[in-house]
Amino acid sequence: MFKKILVANRGEIALRIQRACRELGIKAVMVYSEADRDAKYVKLAEESVCIGPAASALSYLNMPALISAAEVTDAEAIHPGYGFLSENANFAERVEQSGFQFIGPTPESIRIMGDKVSAKQAMIKAGVPCVPGSEGELPDDAMQIRGIAKKIGYPVIIKAAGGGGGRGMRVVHTEAALINAVQMTKAEAGAAFGNPAVYMEKFLQNPRHIEIQILADKHKNAVYLGERDCSMQRRHQKILEEAPAPGIPRKLIEKIGERCVAACKKIGYRGAGTFEFLFENGEFYFIEMNTRVQVEHPVTEWITGVDIVKTQIMVAAGEKLPFTQRQIEIRGHAIECRINAEDAYKFTPSPGRITMWHPPGGPGVRVDSHVYTNYFVPPNYDSMIGKIIVHGDTREQAMARMRTALAETVVEGISTNIPLHRELMVDAKFMSGGTNIHYLESWLEQHKR
Ligand code: ADP
Repeated sequence: MFKKILVANRGEIALRIQRACRELGIKAVMVYSEADRDAKYVKLAEESVCIGPAASALSYLNMPALISAAEVTDAEAIHPGYGFLSENANFAERVEQSGFQFIGPTPESIRIMGDKVSAKQAMIKAGVPCVPGSEGELPDDAMQIRGIAKKIGYPVIIKAAGGGGGRGMRVVHTEAALINAVQMTKAEAGAAFGNPAVYMEKFLQNPRHIEIQILADKHKNAVYLGERDCSMQRRHQKILEEAPAPGIPRKLIEKIGERCVAACKKIGYRGAGTFEFLFENGEFYFIEMNTRVQVEHPVTEWITGVDIVKTQIMVAAGEKLPFTQRQIEIRGHAIECRINAEDAYKFTPSPGRITMWHPPGGPGVRVDSHVYTNYFVPPNYDSMIGKIIVHGDTREQAMARMRTALAETVVEGISTNIPLHRELMVDAKFMSGGTNIHYLESWLEQHKR
């Protein structure tokens, strides 16, 4: 096992990784930008290194600074968390070339999955069902593009091969709007992701977003840890997740889960990963794979009893998965609310000093957050300041616990989206389960204020 790991991230996930290291008896070196000097995990750290100024490009995205931080502290491995460099194949490569273990898949796996076109092609080869669409990247010729769209059938969605974070996508309803949409998406993709390649998919009208968590080791073992329902989204960004997905028969989950495991074995995948699917009329359609730990991993940890972050570290150190598929049992129901420093209904960011932070507690409540009373939320990064996760024997009990938890939570000094979560937890449609990916946006439209 490693003796020391460098945590190349910030916020709640940095704290989460630090906790996993503590449990494993591993020293965690924390890095921080000048804006994060006062973060909880830095104060708790045995060792920490300032890697640069507030701007991410100069700190959390600064590869030489991170690698030299690992060098000067004698760390053996680097955990990238999520976001920042976690899905950057060049970073993974540089980490390994510098003699450190990258806690994640091989650079090659990241590269294949990081390009949505090559990811889809790999999935088709591995027998994972995909959304019907163009065979690879769209050509330049307008006639050909129109032909592809006609064959797929409108509406279609134009997506950037290098896209991520819900950006670089455009829905097209008519042929008249097609070519312009393709050109605009291409231009945006080139500017935002450095890769102008786009592809086309059938735009599914009312799907749910269902994803499968997998874990794989370096010895060709892989398991799936059930599914998560992440359909509650705004602008393609998840705000609330749950597991299991309400109303989907276990048999369907098992079938798709086994396909994902088979695909992992086929591509030699190692570490934690998530296969994201759209689910409509009883069918799963692969959209992308995330080659890292996800924000919403705690709901899976709670229904399976598996510590995903600890297991990531163990398999990166070369250990075998400590469980087989048959040993994975789903117990109860878990829900996660992402707490963002933003206006609950206008979504404008609300950084600043938290004058009062009173997190909830009690049976079946978990809070993953790096903030505390008097903590200053810097304006430089993502607005998420933590997550409240609950577990219950049933979905009803989990929702009741979340309502209690949200009622107990006090955050003063900044605005948060807690009022929105409180309303959603008593919304009849959400409570009955199985809402689709458009539900939250239409709810927000109806509840405009
Ligand atoms: P990103 O990497 O930016 O998260 P994804 O490919 O995972 O992009 O898609 C994000 C979201 O966009 C999905 O959860 C879904 O809401 C929507 N979406 C993507 N592809 C389609 C599609 N073919 N039909 C309908 N909605 C889609």
